[in-house]
Amino acid sequence: MHCSFCGRSDKEVTLLLPGIDGCICSDCVQRAVEITREYLPQAQDAEELDIATLPKPGEIKAFLDQYVIGQDTAKKYLSVAVYNHYKRLNQQQSSDGVDIEKSNIIIVGPTGTGKTLLAKTIARMLKVPFAIVDATVLTEAGYVGEDIESPLTRLLQACDYNVKEAERGIVFIDEIDKIARKGDNPSITRDVSGEGVQQGLLKLLEGSVVNVPPQGGRKHPEQKMIAVDTKNILFICGGAFEGIEQKIAQRLNTHVVGYGATNHVSQVERQRLLHFVAPQDLRSYGLIPEIIGRLPILTNLEPLDRQALRRILTEPKNAIVKQYHKLLEMDGVTLTIDDDVLDFVVDKAIEYKLGARGLRSIFETIMIDVMYQTPSMGTSEYRLTRTYAEEQLEHSNFEMLTSA
Ligand code: ADP
Repeated sequence: MHCSFCGRSDKEVTLLLPGIDGCICSDCVQRAVEITREYLPQAQDAEELDIATLPKPGEIKAFLDQYVIGQDTAKKYLSVAVYNHYKRLNQQQSSDGVDIEKSNIIIVGPTGTGKTLLAKTIARMLKVPFAIVDATVLTEAGYVGEDIESPLTRLLQACDYNVKEAERGIVFIDEIDKIARKGDNPSITRDVSGEGVQQGLLKLLEGSVVNVPPQGGRKHPEQKMIAVDTKNILFICGGAFEGIEQKIAQRLNTHVVGYGATNHVSQVERQRLLHFVAPQDLRSYGLIPEIIGRLPILTNLEPLDRQALRRILTEPKNAIVKQYHKLLEMDGVTLTIDDDVLDFVVDKAIEYKLGARGLRSIFETIMIDVMYQTPSMGTSEYRLTRTYAEEQLEHSNFEMLTSA
Protein backbone atom coordinates (compact mmCIF):
# COMPACT_ATOMS: atom_id res chain seq x y z
CA MET A 1 0.00 0.00 0.00
CA HIS A 2 1.41 3.41 -0.99
CA CYS A 3 0.28 7.00 -0.52
CA SER A 4 -1.03 8.11 -3.88
CA PHE A 5 0.26 11.64 -3.26
CA CYS A 6 3.83 11.23 -1.99
CA GLY A 7 4.38 7.62 -2.98
CA ARG A 8 5.66 6.44 0.40
CA SER A 9 4.66 3.02 1.66
CA ASP A 10 2.66 2.32 4.81
CA LYS A 11 5.95 1.41 6.56
CA GLU A 12 7.31 4.92 5.99
CA VAL A 13 4.34 6.94 7.21
CA THR A 14 2.49 7.15 10.51
CA LEU A 15 -0.95 6.55 9.11
CA LEU A 16 -2.22 5.58 5.68
CA LEU A 17 -5.89 6.19 4.93
CA PRO A 18 -7.38 4.02 2.18
CA GLY A 19 -9.80 5.52 -0.37
CA ILE A 20 -11.70 4.03 -3.33
CA ASP A 21 -8.88 4.15 -5.86
CA GLY A 22 -5.89 5.00 -3.71
CA CYS A 23 -4.52 6.00 -0.33
CA ILE A 24 -3.38 9.17 1.41
CA CYS A 25 -0.90 9.42 4.28
CA SER A 26 -1.40 11.61 7.37
CA ASP A 27 1.45 13.94 6.32
CA CYS A 28 -0.20 14.67 3.00
CA VAL A 29 -3.54 15.26 4.72
CA GLN A 30 -1.89 17.80 7.00
CA ARG A 31 -0.15 19.56 4.14
CA ALA A 32 -3.39 19.66 2.17
CA VAL A 33 -5.18 21.31 5.11
CA GLU A 34 -2.45 23.95 5.34
CA ILE A 35 -2.60 24.73 1.64
CA THR A 36 -6.38 24.91 1.67
CA ARG A 37 -6.28 27.28 4.61
CA GLU A 38 -3.79 29.53 2.90
CA TYR A 39 -5.69 29.73 -0.36
CA LEU A 40 -9.27 29.68 0.85
CA PRO A 41 -9.13 31.93 3.89
CA GLN A 42 -12.30 33.77 2.97
CA ALA A 43 -14.33 30.61 2.63
CA GLN A 44 -15.91 30.84 6.07
CA ASP A 45 -18.31 33.48 7.31
CA ALA A 46 -18.18 35.00 10.72
CA GLU A 47 -20.80 33.84 13.19
CA GLU A 48 -23.76 36.16 13.80
CA LEU A 49 -23.64 38.07 17.07
CA ASP A 50 -27.03 38.39 18.71
CA ILE A 51 -26.98 41.52 20.81
CA ALA A 52 -29.75 40.22 23.08
CA THR A 53 -27.63 37.31 24.25
CA LEU A 54 -24.33 39.19 24.55
CA PRO A 55 -23.05 40.23 27.97
CA LYS A 56 -24.06 43.78 28.96
CA PRO A 57 -21.42 46.26 30.15
CA GLY A 58 -22.42 45.59 33.77
CA GLU A 59 -21.92 41.86 33.28
CA ILE A 60 -18.55 42.39 31.61
CA LYS A 61 -17.41 44.53 34.52
CA ALA A 62 -18.70 42.02 37.04
CA PHE A 63 -16.60 39.38 35.32
CA LEU A 64 -13.52 41.61 35.46
CA ASP A 65 -14.21 42.25 39.15
CA GLN A 66 -13.64 38.58 39.86
CA TYR A 67 -10.03 38.78 38.75
CA VAL A 68 -8.92 42.42 38.91
CA ILE A 69 -9.02 44.47 42.09
CA GLY A 70 -10.06 48.12 41.90
CA GLN A 71 -9.51 50.07 38.65
CA ASP A 72 -13.23 50.76 38.35
CA THR A 73 -12.92 53.59 35.85
CA ALA A 74 -10.81 51.59 33.43
CA LYS A 75 -13.10 48.58 33.82
CA LYS A 76 -16.11 50.71 32.97
CA TYR A 77 -14.47 52.16 29.88
CA LEU A 78 -13.39 48.72 28.72
CA SER A 79 -16.79 47.14 29.27
CA VAL A 80 -18.58 49.87 27.37
CA ALA A 81 -16.01 49.78 24.57
CA VAL A 82 -16.39 46.03 24.13
CA TYR A 83 -20.18 46.21 24.22
CA ASN A 84 -20.23 49.06 21.70
CA HIS A 85 -17.85 47.06 19.57
CA TYR A 86 -20.43 44.25 19.43
CA LYS A 87 -23.13 46.76 18.56
CA ARG A 88 -21.09 48.26 15.78
CA LEU A 89 -20.46 44.82 14.32
CA ASN A 90 -24.18 44.26 14.37
CA GLN A 91 -25.24 47.45 12.67
CA GLN A 92 -27.02 46.97 9.39
CA GLN A 93 -26.03 48.91 6.33
CA SER A 94 -27.31 52.21 7.67
CA SER A 95 -30.19 53.82 5.87
CA ASP A 96 -30.34 56.71 8.32
CA GLY A 97 -26.73 57.78 7.68
CA VAL A 98 -25.70 57.20 11.27
CA ASP A 99 -22.62 55.02 11.30
CA ILE A 100 -21.31 53.94 14.66
CA GLU A 101 -17.59 54.54 14.50
CA LYS A 102 -15.12 52.58 16.52
CA SER A 103 -13.58 54.08 19.61
CA ASN A 104 -10.12 52.71 20.24
CA ILE A 105 -8.89 53.05 23.80
CA ILE A 106 -5.64 54.01 25.44
CA ILE A 107 -5.03 53.09 29.09
CA VAL A 108 -2.33 54.92 31.00
CA GLY A 109 -1.17 53.48 34.30
CA PRO A 110 1.94 52.68 36.31
CA THR A 111 3.55 49.33 35.61
CA GLY A 112 2.20 46.39 37.60
CA THR A 113 -1.24 47.86 38.23
CA GLY A 114 -3.18 45.47 36.03
CA LYS A 115 -3.14 46.62 32.40
CA THR A 116 -2.14 43.27 30.99
CA LEU A 117 -4.27 41.46 33.53
CA LEU A 118 -7.32 43.45 32.42
CA ALA A 119 -6.62 42.63 28.80
CA LYS A 120 -6.10 38.93 29.45
CA THR A 121 -9.17 38.71 31.64
CA ILE A 122 -11.47 40.41 29.18
CA ALA A 123 -10.12 38.12 26.47
CA ARG A 124 -11.58 35.13 28.31
CA MET A 125 -15.11 36.30 27.85
CA LEU A 126 -14.98 37.90 24.43
CA LYS A 127 -17.07 36.58 21.61
CA VAL A 128 -14.59 37.85 19.02
CA PRO A 129 -10.94 36.93 18.38
CA PHE A 130 -8.37 38.65 20.56
CA ALA A 131 -4.62 39.17 20.36
CA ILE A 132 -2.10 40.76 22.71
CA VAL A 133 1.08 42.22 21.25
CA ASP A 134 3.96 44.11 22.73
CA ALA A 135 4.74 47.37 20.96
CA THR A 136 8.42 47.10 21.84
CA VAL A 137 8.97 44.31 19.31
CA LEU A 138 7.31 46.17 16.46
CA THR A 139 9.70 47.78 14.02
CA GLU A 140 9.55 49.35 10.61
CA ALA A 141 9.86 46.92 7.75
CA GLY A 142 13.46 46.03 7.10
CA TYR A 143 14.66 46.09 10.70
CA VAL A 144 15.20 43.18 13.04
CA GLY A 145 12.02 42.61 15.03
CA GLU A 146 8.44 42.06 14.09
CA ASP A 147 6.64 43.79 11.26
CA ILE A 148 3.96 46.27 12.03
CA GLU A 149 1.38 43.83 10.62
CA SER A 150 2.20 41.21 13.23
CA PRO A 151 -0.79 42.11 15.47
CA LEU A 152 -3.02 41.12 12.57
CA THR A 153 -1.11 37.88 12.04
CA ARG A 154 -1.83 37.05 15.69
CA LEU A 155 -5.51 37.84 15.23
CA LEU A 156 -5.68 35.57 12.19
CA GLN A 157 -3.99 32.81 14.14
CA ALA A 158 -6.43 33.32 17.02
CA CYS A 159 -9.37 32.49 14.75
CA ASP A 160 -7.81 29.84 12.56
CA TYR A 161 -7.30 32.20 9.62
CA ASN A 162 -10.96 33.04 9.27
CA VAL A 163 -10.53 36.52 7.79
CA LYS A 164 -14.12 37.61 8.45
CA GLU A 165 -13.70 36.74 12.12
CA ALA A 166 -10.32 38.46 12.37
CA GLU A 167 -11.75 41.61 10.80
CA ARG A 168 -13.98 42.12 13.83
CA GLY A 169 -11.46 41.18 16.47
CA ILE A 170 -9.83 43.16 19.27
CA VAL A 171 -6.08 43.85 19.52
CA PHE A 172 -4.38 44.85 22.75
CA ILE A 173 -1.10 46.69 22.17
CA ASP A 174 0.95 46.75 25.34
CA GLU A 175 3.76 49.20 26.13
CA ILE A 176 2.66 51.71 23.52
CA ASP A 177 4.70 54.34 25.40
CA LYS A 178 7.89 52.59 24.31
CA ILE A 179 7.40 53.69 20.71
CA ALA A 180 7.03 57.34 21.68
CA ARG A 181 9.39 59.73 19.96
CA LYS A 182 12.30 60.53 22.20
CA GLY A 183 12.66 64.26 22.61
CA ASP A 184 10.29 66.87 21.36
CA ASN A 185 11.84 67.74 18.03
CA PRO A 186 10.89 65.47 15.15
CA SER A 187 14.23 64.14 14.03
CA ILE A 188 15.11 63.50 10.43
CA THR A 189 17.48 60.73 11.37
CA ARG A 190 16.34 57.13 11.39
CA ASP A 191 14.38 56.19 14.43
CA VAL A 192 13.95 52.42 14.43
CA SER A 193 11.45 52.07 17.20
CA GLY A 194 9.89 55.49 17.28
CA GLU A 195 8.01 57.60 14.82
CA GLY A 196 8.35 55.18 11.92
CA VAL A 197 6.58 52.53 13.94
CA GLN A 198 3.90 55.00 14.98
CA GLN A 199 3.28 55.84 11.32
CA GLY A 200 2.96 52.14 10.58
CA LEU A 201 0.62 51.60 13.48
CA LEU A 202 -1.49 54.50 12.30
CA LYS A 203 -2.22 52.56 9.13
CA LEU A 204 -3.73 49.78 11.22
CA LEU A 205 -5.67 52.09 13.55
CA GLU A 206 -7.13 54.17 10.74
CA GLY A 207 -8.98 51.34 9.12
CA SER A 208 -7.43 50.25 5.87
CA VAL A 209 -6.86 47.05 3.97
CA VAL A 210 -3.55 45.63 5.07
CA ASN A 211 -1.67 42.75 3.49
CA VAL A 212 -0.77 40.37 6.26
CA PRO A 213 1.76 37.53 6.08
CA PRO A 214 -0.20 34.55 7.48
CA GLN A 215 2.83 33.05 9.23
CA GLY A 216 4.16 36.43 10.31
CA GLY A 217 7.67 37.76 9.87
CA ARG A 218 9.99 37.48 6.93
CA LYS A 219 11.00 33.92 7.46
CA HIS A 220 8.57 32.66 4.87
CA PRO A 221 9.08 34.92 1.87
CA GLU A 222 7.02 32.60 -0.32
CA GLN A 223 3.85 32.92 1.75
CA LYS A 224 0.76 34.32 0.14
CA MET A 225 -0.43 37.55 1.81
CA ILE A 226 -3.94 37.75 3.24
CA ALA A 227 -5.77 41.06 2.87
CA VAL A 228 -7.34 42.14 6.18
CA ASP A 229 -9.59 45.18 6.51
CA THR A 230 -8.95 46.83 9.89
CA LYS A 231 -12.03 49.07 9.74
CA ASN A 232 -13.88 47.12 12.42
CA ILE A 233 -10.94 45.92 14.50
CA LEU A 234 -10.93 47.50 17.94
CA PHE A 235 -7.57 48.55 19.31
CA ILE A 236 -6.84 48.87 23.01
CA CYS A 237 -3.45 50.32 23.87
CA GLY A 238 -1.75 50.34 27.24
CA GLY A 239 1.37 51.99 28.54
CA ALA A 240 3.05 53.06 31.76
CA PHE A 241 4.16 56.43 30.35
CA GLU A 242 6.68 56.78 33.10
CA GLY A 243 7.26 60.40 34.03
CA ILE A 244 4.12 61.65 32.29
CA GLU A 245 3.12 63.20 35.63
CA GLN A 246 5.64 65.93 34.96
CA LYS A 247 4.04 66.76 31.63
CA ILE A 248 0.64 66.82 33.30
CA ALA A 249 1.92 69.04 36.09
CA GLN A 250 3.49 71.43 33.61
CA ARG A 251 0.27 71.73 31.68
CA LEU A 252 -1.89 72.15 34.77
CA ASN A 253 0.46 74.82 36.05
CA THR A 254 0.12 76.94 32.97
CA HIS A 255 -3.62 76.62 33.21
CA VAL A 256 -3.96 77.59 36.81
CA VAL A 257 -1.56 80.52 36.72
CA GLY A 258 -3.47 83.73 37.14
CA TYR A 259 -6.46 82.15 38.81
CA GLY A 260 -5.00 82.40 42.27
CA ALA A 261 -4.47 78.66 42.42
CA THR A 262 -0.78 78.36 41.68
CA ASN A 263 -0.18 76.16 44.66
CA HIS A 264 -2.87 73.77 43.65
CA VAL A 265 -0.63 71.39 41.70
CA SER A 266 2.06 71.07 44.28
CA GLN A 267 -0.59 69.94 46.72
CA VAL A 268 -1.93 67.29 44.45
CA GLU A 269 -0.12 64.07 45.07
CA ARG A 270 2.13 63.30 42.14
CA GLN A 271 0.53 59.96 41.59
CA ARG A 272 -2.95 61.40 41.59
CA LEU A 273 -1.92 63.63 38.71
CA LEU A 274 -2.60 60.70 36.42
CA HIS A 275 -6.30 61.38 36.92
CA PHE A 276 -5.88 64.52 34.87
CA VAL A 277 -4.06 62.91 31.97
CA ALA A 278 -5.18 64.45 28.68
CA PRO A 279 -4.33 63.89 25.01
CA GLN A 280 -1.92 66.86 25.05
CA ASP A 281 0.21 65.05 27.63
CA LEU A 282 0.53 62.01 25.41
CA ARG A 283 1.63 64.35 22.68
CA SER A 284 4.31 65.98 24.83
CA TYR A 285 5.38 62.47 25.77
CA GLY A 286 6.11 61.71 22.13
CA LEU A 287 3.09 60.12 20.52
CA ILE A 288 2.25 61.67 17.17
CA PRO A 289 -1.04 63.60 17.05
CA GLU A 290 -2.46 61.31 14.36
CA ILE A 291 -2.13 58.28 16.66
CA ILE A 292 -3.66 60.15 19.58
CA GLY A 293 -6.55 61.19 17.34
CA ARG A 294 -7.20 57.53 16.59
CA LEU A 295 -7.35 56.63 20.28
CA PRO A 296 -10.24 58.81 21.36
CA ILE A 297 -10.88 57.15 24.72
CA LEU A 298 -8.22 57.90 27.28
CA THR A 299 -8.45 56.33 30.71
CA ASN A 300 -6.06 55.64 33.54
CA LEU A 301 -5.26 53.01 36.11
CA GLU A 302 -4.82 53.89 39.76
CA PRO A 303 -1.59 53.18 41.59
CA LEU A 304 -2.27 50.30 43.98
CA ASP A 305 -2.31 51.33 47.62
CA ARG A 306 -1.76 49.12 50.66
CA GLN A 307 -5.40 48.14 50.88
CA ALA A 308 -5.55 47.14 47.22
CA LEU A 309 -2.40 45.03 47.51
CA ARG A 310 -3.86 43.28 50.54
CA ARG A 311 -7.00 42.46 48.60
CA ILE A 312 -4.99 41.21 45.61
CA LEU A 313 -3.40 38.59 47.86
CA THR A 314 -6.70 36.98 48.79
CA GLU A 315 -9.68 38.17 46.75
CA PRO A 316 -9.24 37.51 43.02
CA LYS A 317 -10.56 34.19 41.75
CA ASN A 318 -7.01 32.94 41.32
CA ALA A 319 -5.45 34.88 44.19
CA ILE A 320 -1.97 33.81 45.29
CA VAL A 321 -3.19 32.68 48.70
CA LYS A 322 -5.92 30.54 47.12
CA GLN A 323 -3.33 28.94 44.87
CA TYR A 324 -1.19 27.93 47.87
CA HIS A 325 -4.19 26.50 49.68
CA LYS A 326 -4.86 24.39 46.62
CA LEU A 327 -1.23 23.30 46.21
CA LEU A 328 -1.04 22.03 49.78
CA GLU A 329 -4.51 20.55 49.63
CA MET A 330 -3.21 18.22 46.93
CA ASP A 331 -0.81 16.84 49.53
CA GLY A 332 -3.65 16.47 52.01
CA VAL A 333 -2.43 19.44 54.04
CA THR A 334 -4.77 22.18 55.27
CA LEU A 335 -3.02 25.55 55.22
CA THR A 336 -3.90 28.33 57.66
CA ILE A 337 -2.29 31.71 57.23
CA ASP A 338 -2.26 34.24 60.07
CA ASP A 339 -3.67 37.61 59.11
CA ASP A 340 -0.52 39.49 60.03
CA VAL A 341 1.48 37.40 57.53
CA LEU A 342 -0.51 39.01 54.76
CA ASP A 343 0.11 42.47 56.20
CA PHE A 344 3.80 41.63 56.35
CA VAL A 345 3.91 40.54 52.69
CA VAL A 346 2.16 43.74 51.65
CA ASP A 347 4.55 45.87 53.73
CA LYS A 348 7.54 44.23 52.12
CA ALA A 349 6.14 44.64 48.60
CA ILE A 350 5.76 48.35 49.32
CA GLU A 351 9.14 48.64 51.02
CA TYR A 352 10.94 47.06 48.09
CA LYS A 353 8.81 49.05 45.63
CA LEU A 354 7.74 45.86 43.89
CA GLY A 355 4.02 46.56 43.69
CA ALA A 356 1.59 43.76 42.87
CA ARG A 357 4.23 41.87 40.91
CA GLY A 358 6.31 41.51 44.06
CA LEU A 359 3.55 39.90 46.10
CA ARG A 360 4.02 36.57 44.41
CA SER A 361 7.81 36.49 44.65
CA ILE A 362 7.73 37.45 48.32
CA PHE A 363 5.13 34.83 49.07
CA GLU A 364 7.03 32.18 47.18
CA THR A 365 10.22 32.97 49.06
CA ILE A 366 8.38 32.58 52.34
CA MET A 367 6.75 29.32 51.32
CA ILE A 368 9.69 27.54 49.67
CA ASP A 369 10.69 25.43 52.69
CA VAL A 370 7.09 24.60 53.53
CA MET A 371 6.51 23.45 49.98
CA TYR A 372 9.70 21.43 50.16
CA GLN A 373 9.08 19.71 53.45
CA THR A 374 5.36 19.25 54.12
CA PRO A 375 4.62 16.73 51.33
CA SER A 376 6.94 14.17 52.92
CA MET A 377 6.14 14.93 56.56
CA GLY A 378 2.75 13.30 56.67
CA THR A 379 1.13 16.20 58.54
CA SER A 380 -2.42 17.22 57.80
CA GLU A 381 -2.22 20.85 58.87
CA TYR A 382 0.17 23.73 58.51
CA ARG A 383 -0.09 27.17 60.10
CA LEU A 384 1.94 30.04 58.64
CA THR A 385 2.90 32.63 61.25
CA ARG A 386 4.39 36.08 60.90
CA THR A 387 7.52 35.17 62.86
CA TYR A 388 8.22 32.31 60.49
CA ALA A 389 7.57 34.53 57.44
CA GLU A 390 9.96 37.19 58.74
CA GLU A 391 12.68 34.62 59.34
CA GLN A 392 12.28 33.06 55.93
CA LEU A 393 12.56 36.38 54.14
CA GLU A 394 15.58 37.35 56.19
CA HIS A 395 17.38 34.09 55.42
CA SER A 396 16.68 34.33 51.75
CA ASN A 397 18.59 37.55 51.11
CA PHE A 398 15.46 38.66 49.34
CA GLU A 399 16.37 42.27 49.92
CA MET A 400 19.68 41.90 48.16
CA LEU A 401 18.14 39.97 45.29
CA THR A 402 15.60 42.65 44.61
CA SER A 403 17.66 45.77 45.16
CA ALA A 404 18.63 47.29 41.88
P1 ADP B 1 0.93 45.96 33.95
O1 ADP B 1 0.03 47.08 34.37
O2 ADP B 1 2.37 46.33 34.05
O3 ADP B 1 0.54 45.33 32.66
P2 ADP B 1 0.14 43.42 35.04
O4 ADP B 1 -1.28 43.45 34.64
O5 ADP B 1 1.05 42.55 34.25
O6 ADP B 1 0.74 44.88 35.10
O7 ADP B 1 0.22 43.02 36.58
C1 ADP B 1 1.23 42.20 37.10
C2 ADP B 1 0.66 41.22 38.10
O8 ADP B 1 0.26 41.91 39.27
C3 ADP B 1 -0.58 40.52 37.59
O9 ADP B 1 -0.28 39.30 37.00
C4 ADP B 1 -1.43 40.32 38.85
O10 ADP B 1 -1.04 39.14 39.50
C5 ADP B 1 -1.03 41.47 39.73
N1 ADP B 1 -1.96 42.60 39.67
C6 ADP B 1 -1.67 43.83 39.22
N2 ADP B 1 -2.72 44.66 39.34
C7 ADP B 1 -3.73 43.93 39.82
C8 ADP B 1 -5.09 44.22 40.18
N3 ADP B 1 -5.63 45.44 40.01
N4 ADP B 1 -5.84 43.21 40.67
C9 ADP B 1 -5.32 41.97 40.84
N5 ADP B 1 -4.05 41.64 40.55
C10 ADP B 1 -3.25 42.60 40.06
